[in-house]
Order: sequence, then C-alpha cells, then structure tokens
Amino acid sequence: MITNGEQKMSDPHENNTPDPVAETGTLGSLYEKHKTIYVRTVKGWWTSWRWIFVWATQILFYGLPWVQWGERQAVLFHLVERKFYLFGLVLWPQDAFYLAVLLIISAYALFLFTAVAGRLFCGYACPQTVYTEIFLWLEKWLEGERPARIKLDKAPMNARKLRVKTIKHALWLLISLWTGFTLVGYFTPMHELIASIGTFNFGGWEIFWIFFYGGFTYLMAGFLREQLCKFMCPYARFQSAMFDPDTLIITYDPKRGEPRGAFRKNADRAQQGDCVDCNICVQVCPVGIDIRKGLQYECIGCGACIDGCDEVMDKLAKPRGLVRYTSENALAGKYGRGDFWSHVLRPRILIYSALLTLIIIAAGWSLVTRVPLRTDVIRDRSVLGREVKGGKIENVYTLKVMNVSEQARTFVISVGGQEGLELTENTRVETGATENREVTLSVQAPIGALSQGSHQIFFDVVAVDDPAVAVHEKTTFLMP
Ligand code: SF4
Ligand code: SF4
Repeated sequence: MITNGEQKMSDPHENNTPDPVAETGTLGSLYEKHKTIYVRTVKGWWTSWRWIFVWATQILFYGLPWVQWGERQAVLFHLVERKFYLFGLVLWPQDAFYLAVLLIISAYALFLFTAVAGRLFCGYACPQTVYTEIFLWLEKWLEGERPARIKLDKAPMNARKLRVKTIKHALWLLISLWTGFTLVGYFTPMHELIASIGTFNFGGWEIFWIFFYGGFTYLMAGFLREQLCKFMCPYARFQSAMFDPDTLIITYDPKRGEPRGAFRKNADRAQQGDCVDCNICVQVCPVGIDIRKGLQYECIGCGACIDGCDEVMDKLAKPRGLVRYTSENALAGKYGRGDFWSHVLRPRILIYSALLTLIIIAAGWSLVTRVPLRTDVIRDRSVLGREVKGGKIENVYTLKVMNVSEQARTFVISVGGQEGLELTENTRVETGATENREVTLSVQAPIGALSQGSHQIFFDVVAVDDPAVAVHEKTTFLMP
C-alpha cells in the first residue's frame, strides 16, 4: 500500500509522525512550509546506476543533434519542411500513425516497468531526476557537503557566499540555456543555429523555446526539485494503480530493523533491531522522506536510501539489505528467496511483455516495409463532370505525389477501375529526393460509357526505377 508518509506498511507503532490535530487541537495549514532539502552524498550500486543513466541520457540528448546522416542531420523534426528525419527514415505528417504507436509503446513500457519494479523511470531516467542530479552535483562541488551547504545558507551574505552562489547560478543558467538550445536543435538544423549564435539571428520561436525550456530547466532542477515530483507530476498519483503486492518496491524491513535505537558500544544489541536510527536514509533521500514510514507516493525509487543504509550496515558489520528492493508479499513472508523471481515474472508481467513485444515487432515491420511513396487525390469540386470536345465527359483531380525516399524518382500515373477511362496529360511526374509534387489530372470517358452517377476509379502511381514503389489511390468519377 502506498501511503502519504503518515502511515507505515506494516507495524503501526513505528509511526512517529507527529499528529498536528492531536498536538495542537487544530488542523494544520493546507500549505506546508517548504524546507530546503540538503541531500547528503552517497555511494553505492544504485547511485552508480543512476549516474550511468545520467550520462547515457545526456550523451544521447546533447549528442544526437550533432550526428550527420549523409548530407543532413540524422535526427531532425524539420518544422519548415514538415518532415521528420530519423537516420535513414523520412517521416511525413501522414506518418503521424508512427508517432501514435511510439506514444503507445512508451506508455505501455511505463506500465510494464512500473508493475515490475515501481518507479524505475522516475528514479533513473526522468529529466527532472537527471537534471536535479547534475545541478546537485555542481552545488556540492561548489558549496561542499551537506553540513557545509547548510552552514553557508544560514550564514549572512559575505564576499565568499556571494561569489559561490553567483558562480553556481551562472553555471546552472549556462547548462539550462544549452539544454534549451539543444532542444531547438532537434527542430532547426544545428548548423543553422550555430551560425546564428554570433549574430543572435534566431527566429522568434527559436528564441522563445531556448529561453522557455532553458528557464524551465533552471527553475525545475535548481529550485522546485522534489516539489515537482511531489505536487506537480501526475504519475506519482496514479502509479499505485499499476502496483500489486508482487511489485518490487524499495522498502525498509521493520521486522529486522525494529525496535530501532541509537548505536551504543556497550548496549545489549540483542534487544534492539538493526536500525541504529542514524537518519542517513533520510539525509540521502532527494525528496526528503523517511523510507521507514513505509512506501510513500513521494518516493521516486532512486535507491539512494538502499546505498545509504548499506554503508551503515557495512560499518556495523551487519548484513546489507535493511532497506532493499523487495515486494510487499516477500516482506510479509508469503514466499522465500527461492520463489522471488517466479513472482517477479508473474502472468501479468509475461502478458504485458508479450503484448509490448508484439506491438514493437508489428510497428517495426510496418516501418521497414512501408512504401516510400505517399499520394493524396482531391477531386476538383468546382467542376464536377463536364462535357468536353469529342463527346466525352471530363473530371479534374489534383494529385499530390510525395516521394518519401531520399532519391530522386520518376513516377508513371495511369487510371483504371472503369471501362473507357483516359488520362489526357501528366502521365509522368518527376520528383526530387523527399519532394512533394502536385499535378492536375484530367480523366475523360466517352458519354454513355458509364451510367449516370458516381463511379469508383483509381490512379496507379508507380516508380519507374522500382515497380514495388507503387500506390493504388481510389477516387470517384462523376457522370452527369
Ligand atoms: S540508514 Fe539504515 S540504520 Fe540508519 S536510520 Fe536508515 S534504516 Fe536505520
Ligand atoms: S525513499 Fe529512498 S528510493 Fe525513495 S526517493 Fe527517497 S532515497 Fe529514493
């Protein structure tokens, strides 16, 4: 059960949160006073993994816009050209289907990972976590460890404090603006952006997004930090719907840890649990919660409290894992270590995984085998069927031919579907690489060849160099 930090998962007498009603006789304010969290540095397996994800996501994010693919940027959402370049792929607005599939896959993957091991995304890959981690690292580097930062913030302003704070905010701003600039580099070719830096000759929306996204990064990672996870992120609120008692969660083992008590050399430890109430797990927590109060919705699953507590257990020569990844059922002793993985790989997870794999394979197959040609036909509505020379009825169409490949192509256009149809002009159209062409097509049929009314016909558009690159486009022919 996920709580709001007022309850514990199991042992109720572990709850030492003061009750404001009991203590004061009145309800507390609706708004809690914000307390700055001075996160203590911690080392360990989970922290290393967090940093691996920080590096991996940031190398990807900052690096991708600089990668070239032939003559162009490898990954570019070209808003002016209305094309999305993804290495060898060129996607058009008509391919928005793939974007929808990508969103479905992402949402589905989030459900799956959450059902397996809780908020893995939040703890390791969410931009808020990643940028907060980077900003915090800079803060620690400039201002020192937790006690030094607390002391510095309490101290009155002096030359050193002013210098340190100014450098810190200048570096945060630099990173933030570079983040905004990089984001824009996914939508405007990076070489154009770089060329504009000297003259500050950016377009209006480019300036807006550099400063908006940059400012957002500065505000969120520098100031709001855990408050975004606690109060603004909707995922924190609905994650519990995806949890079940076999979901892996980071939790404190009260059976082993309680009764907690400060470590004293000559104390009878047999009467005490393993928790020495050192508060390290709280001090390393980036959202400032006490994991010993049970699983709380604020917990982003970063694992810092596991590393912190493991360090303490190592010093006390006790086994690690007083705070660890486990499930509610395992913690309650419903199964042992031997059955652990069979509960992780339970039917729900296997079904989710199979469905996700199927969607990915189907989307990948559709993408790889898609025909690099799109067409769109519009009947000229101002001129329905009209009589022309030679005793014929003519219908006029506009055919848009979109060559989605990265090579110039010539296409042959023919008409079919009814007897006696004839295409009078534009039976060939030449297009450059990833180019759109619009042609006017005039289709004629002898009077009397078709009955009065609407008849289905089609245009065949076939590439001269590769007959497999072809589209069969349906439309109607009106006989007055
Ligand atoms: S770090 Fe471990 S020993 Fe220290 S208070 Fe937290 S749970 Fe107890
Ligand atoms: S309780 Fe532990 S896992 Fe949760 S946010 Fe705090 S440090 Fe991270």
